[in-house]
Amino acid sequence: MSFEAPVGEIAETMRAAGGLDEALATGAFGDLSPDTVTAILAEAGRFAEGVLAPLNRVGDRDGVRHDENGVTTASGWKQAYRQWAAAGWNGLGAPTEWGGQGLPVTVQVAVQELWNAGNASFAIGPMLTAGAIDAIAAHADDTLKRRYLPRLVSGEWMATMNLTEPQAGSDLGAIRTRAEPQADGSYRIFGQKIFITYGEHDLTDNIIHLVLARLPEAPAGTRGISLFLVPKLLADGARNDVVAAGVERKLGIHGAPTCTMVYGGAGDGAVGWRIGAENHGLAAMFTMMNMARLSVGVQGVGVAEGAYQTALAYARGRRQGHPPAGPRGAMVPIVEHPDVQRDLLAMKALTAGGRAICHACAHAIDMSRSGPAGERARWASRAGLLTPIAKAFATDAAIAVASTGVQVHGGAGYIEETGAAQYLRDARVFAIYEGTNGIQAIDLVTRKLTLDDGSAIAAVIADIGKAAADVAALNSDSFGDTGVRLAAAAADLAAATRHLGAALAEGRADDALAGATPYLRLAALAFGGALLAKGALAATDGGRWVALARFFAETFVGETSGLAATVVTGADGLRQAAAAMLTVDGPAARAASNRTKLDSGGTAWSTM
Ligand SMILES: Cc1cc2nc3c(=O)[nH]c(=O)nc-3n(C[C@H](O)[C@H](O)[C@H](O)COP(=O)(O)OP(=O)(O)OC[C@H]3O[C@@H](n4cnc5c(N)ncnc54)[C@H](O)[C@@H]3O)c2cc1C
Repeated sequence: MSFEAPVGEIAETMRAAGGLDEALATGAFGDLSPDTVTAILAEAGRFAEGVLAPLNRVGDRDGVRHDENGVTTASGWKQAYRQWAAAGWNGLGAPTEWGGQGLPVTVQVAVQELWNAGNASFAIGPMLTAGAIDAIAAHADDTLKRRYLPRLVSGEWMATMNLTEPQAGSDLGAIRTRAEPQADGSYRIFGQKIFITYGEHDLTDNIIHLVLARLPEAPAGTRGISLFLVPKLLADGARNDVVAAGVERKLGIHGAPTCTMVYGGAGDGAVGWRIGAENHGLAAMFTMMNMARLSVGVQGVGVAEGAYQTALAYARGRRQGHPPAGPRGAMVPIVEHPDVQRDLLAMKALTAGGRAICHACAHAIDMSRSGPAGERARWASRAGLLTPIAKAFATDAAIAVASTGVQVHGGAGYIEETGAAQYLRDARVFAIYEGTNGIQAIDLVTRKLTLDDGSAIAAVIADIGKAAADVAALNSDSFGDTGVRLAAAAADLAAATRHLGAALAEGRADDALAGATPYLRLAALAFGGALLAKGALAATDGGRWVALARFFAETFVGETSGLAATVVTGADGLRQAAAAMLTVDGPAARAASNRTKLDSGGTAWSTM
């Protein structure tokens, strides 16, 4: 089945859940209108449908090839990338002074969803380049900006993000790659990075690596990390001393190379330049990572959309069984069975909920940059709060949606030919990279709940309460229990937030961390439900939004009471069970646990 870009639904979400009109009203985006945005989406949708989606299976089947000449992407990918860059898609959100179009983040996110729904392995490459452009524009000196930004913005070159090392995953404080200062102001980089997405490939001649490394005498842990720009090709065209030593064989996103990168393997070090202040590299990298986290959430939305469409098409065609009531005539399409309908609608609702949260986050970023001066800090806090929720919820949802998609296909879903399995394999990594979803939950609980003295989360809880009250005031049967469920969810979120706040204030960090993941899901379900209800209240589509908001509220929002109970009372039980069943004893177990011990006093992915 071929992918159909859900342009109308995305455009509605941008306005109802995101707030596109408010962003455009700031005047920061010239004469950009909602109609123009829809036209951009339609054009992107045609590209995703016509060029990217047909290459999705090719990339999955053929993967990438690594040999002494480097890494070769699957057949047709290089041409598709060139076509994509030539059409100007790469610079959509980039600053206009460097050749970009400076469009709102909310438009960037909408278009990213389409690329990912068509072909997630393709989309992850340009997504990393967009993050690198942000980081270079925000933190690099003018020489580096002039040398690299125009060609990154045009898409002539691509960029990567190099954090992970064998001993430094979630805990970036353990990074060992080193940078030695040179007399001319450059640096020589030595070390090994693993799992680097698009670390080497044939889509562009040059690849610009953003690399975290330590200066000599740098403090231990995360406070001693600096950021460096290391090009594959130097200004004179000579090859820098950075190579992909290998590519990983992996569960999904086969079309995207995942590389082990060796810097300085030839002896003299790879030439690089520092971005931002010494020892403040993580802060600079977080400019890239915050946007990348939202973008990974959007990857989840895109893949979930693809999985839903594939399952729906299959369910409409596959005939099995008879309706429980009525005559036993010919077998009916499985889409007519209530149990399959529940599966499909759960897929649809989770996708829509994830999309709405991602757009609310994108809108907060836009307003933090372009809103009224006095309100920008408040919007920035909201964006900070929503980023881990968007990343973790939308990617967990993608995995659940893709898994349900396999289920809807029955045995055929387990067979590669239908494409349902690929969605599940591709989506699985979204919950792992850009900071695992566990790390997102820790970030939410330990850093984001206290933003603006708790005002950021209080505003979200108030939004949920308002949506509940607005639905109740309408008093319409078509909303079913939506208002009641949302009101209860707002109370659950408030109670869980109070509990975590008290636990942290009283120094019971373990209690708070035990509830971090259920708390994130609780917040996401409550807020996602509220955003869908808000969209339904504003909708003019004859009831589709209302039906979706009601289904989401009645199917998922009810979970919040159980989640709140787990947050509030679950820590003791977790401790007891861990002591009974997960006790680390014996040298082998101790050695394994040592790998994840923190030597930096914190989990770096969540310390910024
Ligand atoms: C396909 C792929 C592409 C990738 N692309 C890139 C890339 O382009 N650039 C890059 O730099 N990296 C990349 N990565 C690496 C990725 O970001 C890391 O895998 C991720 O950050 C997790 O680190 P880790 O694998 O070492 O897991 P670990 O840190 O060992 O974590 C293992 C488990 O322990 C949990 N955990 C760890 N520490 C804590 C803690 N303090 N508290 C609670 N739980 C904890 C984690 O949540 C996880 O469930 C990629 C990985 C993959 C698989």
